[in-house]
Amino acid sequence: MKSLYSKDSILITIMREIKLNVIPNPESNTKTILEGGIELGNGPYFQGQGGDDSTNYLCGNCNHVLGERLEENAQICDIVVKCLKCQSYNELNTVI
Ligand SMILES: [Zn+2]
Repeated sequence: MKSLYSKDSILITIMREIKLNVIPNPESNTKTILEGGIELGNGPYFQGQGGDDSTNYLCGNCNHVLGERLEENAQICDIVVKCLKCQSYNELNTVI
């Protein structure tokens, strides 16, 4: 029996992607800043269980994935994450 789908097309899922805002060095006493660490490696910082309609959050500078498969209603407010690849500070502020 011949499959209607090629092997490659099955693997493609359309993910939403949001590029984060890169900001200058934040003042550490005003915001929560996540700076990674050895145990985190290349990240991501956040890993959700979202399905095909979930969202990936990318570094605004180098497109590195900092949040993966987050559900649409994920509540992440006013956090600054340091990119694990290019060291840029990204503002993560999900508005519901
Ligand atoms: Zn980056």
